[in-house]
Order: sequence, then structure tokens, then C-alpha cells
Amino acid sequence: MGYEAQNVFLWEEGVKTPQSGEFIKLKDGKIEVPDRPIIPFIEGDGIGPEITPAMILVVNKAVEKTYGGSKEIQWVEVLAGDKAEENTGERLPQETLDFLKEAVVGIKGPLGTPVGKGARSINSALRRAFDFYSAVRPVQWMGQATPIPNPGRVDVVVFRENTDDVYMGIEFFSGTDEAKKVRDFLLGEMGVKESALPEDVGITVKPMSEFKTKRHVRKALRYALESGRKTVAVIGKGNIMKATEGAFINWAFEVAQEPEFKDKVITDPEAEPGDGQVKLVKVITDQMLMQLVLRPEAYDVIIAQNLNGDYVSDLAASLIGGPGFVPSGNIGGGYALFESTHGTAYDIAGQGIANPLSITLSGAMMLEYLGWKESAEKIYDAVKSSFEDRVGTPDIVAGFKRQGIEARQLSTMEYAQEIAQRIN
Ligand code: NAD
Repeated sequence: MGYEAQNVFLWEEGVKTPQSGEFIKLKDGKIEVPDRPIIPFIEGDGIGPEITPAMILVVNKAVEKTYGGSKEIQWVEVLAGDKAEENTGERLPQETLDFLKEAVVGIKGPLGTPVGKGARSINSALRRAFDFYSAVRPVQWMGQATPIPNPGRVDVVVFRENTDDVYMGIEFFSGTDEAKKVRDFLLGEMGVKESALPEDVGITVKPMSEFKTKRHVRKALRYALESGRKTVAVIGKGNIMKATEGAFINWAFEVAQEPEFKDKVITDPEAEPGDGQVKLVKVITDQMLMQLVLRPEAYDVIIAQNLNGDYVSDLAASLIGGPGFVPSGNIGGGYALFESTHGTAYDIAGQGIANPLSITLSGAMMLEYLGWKESAEKIYDAVKSSFEDRVGTPDIVAGFKRQGIEARQLSTMEYAQEIAQRIN
């Protein structure tokens, strides 16, 4: 049962490095995965202690059924969040960062950010420490109840840039000396008109870098080519924000001309991609939001800036029932950390009713990243089969009931066991 498995090494006064495993190696941005890779996991706050063992149970079963013992993950608990604070006095101990770095690939449950203590988000700290520059969110319908008809049309992967844009926190509040200085500079030195910057403005800076954009675009294009996807859309409001979102789109098309992509990425809007090719198109963000609802099958991969990626990935997830049903991966130059997309759900923590799918599907996504695709497929098939038979946690059951369909309600761990049983 989850943590009771022999290949799970829980934190006890420190991180336990098992002799039975080996670390994944990182060479030139590519991972080399041993048969017994050491994978660190952060249990997470709130519902974390319920959903994380559920994920481990399912992933272990899929790997065992695929490789019959010749491959096995060695799970090592590292601490962050509430559990870390209780045990070490820090919310993100250095020991955790060091171990995650050594292990290259890891997975985490949700982490809470205490309000009003001046605490910084651990998620942002991790993102910065590992330069996870792409947040990848595959959105695929598996059979759950959804708010739209024909949800089978939804199968899209959103690549959200993660290290740029308005998230850099360069902000000057209205009425401060800083805002006045920036305003004076823009009016005095840069020829900006007073009507655009009245005295009471607050200012947020939106930086967008060629280097950061291009590495993100390359990652998305490589993914599209490797996974046989066909239509890749780069989005943005380039007509309004020419120096940032417009530049982002132009840089994406420049990447398509690089030797690695020149013959594989076609950019002629009238042409169809052949075998081993993808087509890159540009779509204005508001158009994309409409298209996702009206014609979700039109795009296979969406390349987005940080802010647009936030909107688009949540809308895409909502089409298939919400973020509880989609996985997520934070990926940088080889380093990767997979995670549930929802938060800590403190309101239902400890009741055994949390839906474990987001972190479980993130576990499957991690298996794909390791190159263990067959195991990942087994998890997807088992989840689909559970929906066909109408079983799930209370939120899943409630979704079916809203559509007048009876369903059988299970606890978090019972549902994980049900999925595991369907893996063969
Ligand atoms: P939340 O996702 O925790 O909860 C929103 C609602 O969805 C709640 O009603 C909750 O019960 C429900 N819900 C969420 N996950 C569920 C699941 N797996 N099964 C069933 N129901 C589920 O969002 P919030 O309340 O805005 O955030 C709570 C905390 O989580 C905050 O401290 C926030 O910073 C943090 N957070 C962390 C992450 C992360 O670690 N990646 C992401 C989002 C929010």
C-alpha cells in the first residue's frame, strides 16, 4: 500500500539514500536512466499525505507489470512545506534542494504558502533553483464527466514559459517614489505621453527575453516531433505588445528555421505536415481561448508565454473537468519536477476523499519522461477503464451524478487500489 512498499524510503531524521538504487545522470541536457532510478518525492501539504501514497501505489504497479522486476523506482522522501517546517524548522531545507539536484527528476504534492508570514512560495523557489523554464500540461479526456459535449476532441499539451513575463515581480505601486521615478524617466527620457501615464499610475514591467523564449520553443517543438503531434500553435497578443508577445512569436518562427528544425517544422499556413513533420502556426491569444472551446481538436501543442500560458492551461483543463484531472511537469535543462496541478485542499484534508488523479497522472508523465512509456500507457488505460465502470472519489462521482449517471464512490486509497487492479 503506497508507502508500505519495499522500494519506498521515508525521511527519518534525514534523507535515506538507498543502496538498491542509482541516480539518474544528466549529460548535455539529456538524462540517462538506470534500471533502479532514485526518485525523490515531496509528499505535500494538506491532502498530500493521502494522494502521494496513492500515486506511488499505482506507479509501482504499472512498472512492475511492464518490466516484471527488471526495472523499479527507488522512491526517496525529501521534505518541504509543513512537514519540513515541523521537522527541521525550514520550509525548504537545503538537504532537499541538494538531493533533488543529485537525483535530477522528482515528483511533488501540493505545497501551501502560509498567508501573512512573509513566506515565499516554495514552488517559485524550486522553479528558480532548477531553472524549470517550461511548465508542461497535457490535457486529455479520459472518460470523466465534463462541462462540454464531445470532450474526446480535447487532447492538447500546453507549454507555458515559466521564467519570464510579468511574473518577474518588477512592480512599482501607485503613489510611491519608485513609481514616480520610473514615470519621470519614461516621460522625460523615453518620449512617453502623459496621457498614457497619469500621475497616479502603478507600473508592472513585462520583460520577455529572446534566449528564454527560444529555449522554451525548442523544447516544445522537440516534444511535438518526438510524440508525433501535428499542429503547434504559438500564441500571443503580438498586435498589441509588439516588443514582448510579438517578439515571442517572431522568435518562435526563427527557431523553426534553425538547422535542427528547418526540414521538420513547416510554417506555410496552406501546407500540410508530412510524416515526421509538424506545422507551426500563430494564433492571437483571445482567438485561441475561443478555439479551445469551439474547436479543441484544432491544435495539438500550444506554446505560450507565462501569463497567457496560465490562462490557456486552466481553460483547457476546465474543458475536461478541471485541474484535478490533469498532470503537470516543470522541466528545465534536463531537470524535471512533476506535480499535481491543484493546491493543498486543506478544507478536505484528512478525510480520505481527495481525488488522487492529478498527481497519479503526473507520475505517469514522469514515467514517459524517463522513457518508460509502456508503463505510463498502462496507467492511462487503467484510469480510462475506471471511468468506464463509473468508480471514483466523491468529486468524480458528483460529476457523473450531475449528468444523471450513477457511480460508485470510493476513498482516495480505495480508488488508487481500484486503478492498480486494472493495470495488467
Ligand atoms: P486548492 O486547489 O487547494 O482547492 C480549491 C478547491 O478544490 C477546494 O475546494 C478543494 O477541496 C478542491 N480540491 C483541490 N484538489 C482536490 C482534489 N485532489 N480532490 C478533491 N478536491 C480537490 O486551491 P486553493 O484553496 O486556492 O489553495 C490552497 C493552498 O494550496 C494555498 O496555500 C495555495 O498557495 C496552494 N497551492 C499550491 C499549489 C502547488 O503546490 N502546485 C497549486 C495551487 C495552490
